[in-house]
Amino acid sequence: MYAKVIVDVPSRQTNRPYDYFVPPALIPWVEVGSRVGVPFGNRTVQGFVVDLTKRPDVAAGKLKDIAGVLDAHPPLTPELVELGRWVSRTYLCHEITALQAMIPGALKAKYERLVRLEPYEESELAFLVPRQLELIRYLEAKGSVPLDDLIQRYPGEGEWIKEQIRKGRFSETNSIRDRVGRKKLLTVYPPEPPELLEQYAGELPARAARQKDVLDYLRSNPHPVPLAELTKKLGVGAGTVKGLADKGWISIREVEVFRDPYADRDFRRTAPLPLTPEQEKVFGSISRSLTNSVHRVFLLHGVTGSGKTEVYLQSIQQCLDLGREAIVLVPEISLTPQMVERFKGRFGDQVAVLHSRLSQGERYDEWRKITLGQVKVAIGARSAVFAPFTRLGLIILDEEHESSYKQEDSPKYHAREVAIRRARYFGAAVVLGSATPSLESYARAAEEKPDHPDADEEALAASRKYRLLVMKDRVEGRPLPPVHIVDMRSELKDGNRSMFSRPLYNAIEQRLQRKEQTVLLLNRRGYSTFVMCRTCGYTLSCPHCDISLTYHQSSQAVRCHYCGYAERQAQVCPNCASEHIRYFGTGTQRVEEELAKLFPGIRVIRMDIDTTSEKGAHEKWLTQFANQQADVLLGTQMVAKGLDFPNVTLVGVIAADTMLNLPDFRAAERTFQLMTQVAGRAGRHHLPGEVFVQTYTPEHYSVQCASRHDFHSFVHTELEMRKLRDYPPYCRMILVTLSHEQIPLLVRTAETFAARVKEMASAEAARTGVLSDMEVLGPVASPISRIKDRYRFQCLIKYRKDTSVSERVREAVSSFDDLVRQERLQISVDVDPYLLM
Ligand code: ADP
Ligand code: ZN
Ligand code: ZN
Repeated sequence: MYAKVIVDVPSRQTNRPYDYFVPPALIPWVEVGSRVGVPFGNRTVQGFVVDLTKRPDVAAGKLKDIAGVLDAHPPLTPELVELGRWVSRTYLCHEITALQAMIPGALKAKYERLVRLEPYEESELAFLVPRQLELIRYLEAKGSVPLDDLIQRYPGEGEWIKEQIRKGRFSETNSIRDRVGRKKLLTVYPPEPPELLEQYAGELPARAARQKDVLDYLRSNPHPVPLAELTKKLGVGAGTVKGLADKGWISIREVEVFRDPYADRDFRRTAPLPLTPEQEKVFGSISRSLTNSVHRVFLLHGVTGSGKTEVYLQSIQQCLDLGREAIVLVPEISLTPQMVERFKGRFGDQVAVLHSRLSQGERYDEWRKITLGQVKVAIGARSAVFAPFTRLGLIILDEEHESSYKQEDSPKYHAREVAIRRARYFGAAVVLGSATPSLESYARAAEEKPDHPDADEEALAASRKYRLLVMKDRVEGRPLPPVHIVDMRSELKDGNRSMFSRPLYNAIEQRLQRKEQTVLLLNRRGYSTFVMCRTCGYTLSCPHCDISLTYHQSSQAVRCHYCGYAERQAQVCPNCASEHIRYFGTGTQRVEEELAKLFPGIRVIRMDIDTTSEKGAHEKWLTQFANQQADVLLGTQMVAKGLDFPNVTLVGVIAADTMLNLPDFRAAERTFQLMTQVAGRAGRHHLPGEVFVQTYTPEHYSVQCASRHDFHSFVHTELEMRKLRDYPPYCRMILVTLSHEQIPLLVRTAETFAARVKEMASAEAARTGVLSDMEVLGPVASPISRIKDRYRFQCLIKYRKDTSVSERVREAVSSFDDLVRQERLQISVDVDPYLLM
């Protein structure tokens, strides 16, 4: 048998399957989706089996053997292998990059050089110094040892080790190893049958009282028990237990355990709530498509607090009842303990949680529960869309408008499109939920026609449109909170220079008196920490990138977020030597200081990148806030999403429009979404809520519409704008960024590139007689014109119906292969980009 293998060598030349011979011993282990080690060039690399065949493309005699299989159970399924091919074609990336994105980081191969000892004569050792002799004995005992390990253990012997390798006394091999191993636990097993324990207890000498304790314990608890737990419980040493094992009475084995990040948490089980009529209707539609196993995409537009989560939960239950599995995707920052609790509370151990705050080992173990079929539901951020289920029935994307569903590194996929692709394969349903659907999704959604539901369904399926489901009201008729717009310009005119307007100040004071809580949002984007000289206006910027340096108070240093360049905080201005150089802390830090000044004794919890980088920090802050140990929760975007605290009656947005000035065609949409989301945090329970939005552009339609909770007017206005300026959803885009250290070569290449794409389009049009609707804008310098000493130019390609554009871009990119190799030119392609920088 032969296998086609995609190897872990990401380059355009190796972006194709290679044939290998499967040695007979490995045949039972090699499947489509298996991870294997294969010889490639003069080393061993990791690869994925993407096909098995009886007849290879290349003369069989020339093929090398697969060196080994890395997992007993293939990490990928045939469906995921096929999906990988689709991701690589759709988002123009290497297939290996797509496949790697689907498995946990722990399985990403670590290539290691191993050293082993060749046979030697004892007499050869006579000349060695003691340290070297020790090293030899160590190698002898271990068999083979990672080179790194050897170097660290014997730091003074580097030269000598090198010499041994050169002389062939030590041999060197490559190995592939996972980054994280499985966790094993020593476990004590009672004998079979456990009744034997009684007999053994009789045979025990009287002075072995401790061993008797162990036997007694096992008699009353005849189950396997971790050794550590047993010794702790009985206050005996491990030796005592081992003694019993040595007699053959009990056994101690290594057992694999899962690292469970939620092991010590008790989730209170919740029962399904009786649905409101609106929820009932929405659930009905989803439920029908689940029962019929037809693929359908639903766009659930439900205002904040309308009970979308309950609909998700009951839909998942239905899916599980039908014997199928479900994935729930949420944006990373809203994957809060509260969110996890709601799903664990309903489905208990059937849920795996995947997010980046888990350790690599924990993440790997959660993922393995899925491959081993031990869980039926996966909840996680973007990459959980690749959860290796084989009977998927439902995929939910909560907050579907969130830009974090788009990956910014290769593979630059969008989780929504991947979800839909997978669901189509399984005949599964997709539910895209949001209070503020993205314009792209909204434009693709159609409302149900009550008179001809069935005929309508067919047309819908054919057109690949989404079915729109709406929930207009909050649960139990709770009102959406009133939103007051505060014009900061008139505050300034009246002499108020504080970052708090008078109305917001008064509202906070009121909450302090009533012992109610406040959420304050400061938009992170557009507000950064920077360093400026107050004498000459000079700002510190990175010497390698076209971007200001960011000040980090904790390390008293300034850093570049693009290349990692760092320098110590300067005492004087590098430009004019003035001492008036000021370090502006994060926006949130400044707000925190001001709060403390205005309201002495106020208790503030600040949540931003600085305060939440530690593991578990998120959880800690939110629990404190939930327990009312603080009056104010102050933070960036992360306080806007998904939080549900009964005592919050006031929400303040410090500056609503910091985003509006960014060079981003989605700026208005993002402003509207953020304001709507954060306003949704107030008055979700019995206490009524209130929202204050401070802004310098109160007349902007995104601010106006958000303050009236008016999604439809917003969408209407924004769609007009997009049409006028020709942006998505009225066109699709591909952003191609070229970078190089020298401007002249870069400009020339970028121009050739643009010309080539256009040429290919007209050649195609001449051949087929169909004119392409593609436009190529640029090349122009990128908004961030230099990163890591490389200049950047970009071309923006827009198109509408012509679906062959991406193929053409791929061809144009590969025609620059030689330049990429010889001149270290870089070309990056982003299909449906979110960041145009
Ligand atoms: P959304 O996700 O749409 O913002 P949630 O699902 O968080 O809304 O629901 C808001 C609140 O309403 C939650 O406290 C939830 O427990 C409650 N809720 C949801 N559905 C019902 C229902 N059918 N009956 C009573 N309370 C409900
Ligand atoms: Zn200066
Ligand atoms: Zn830099």
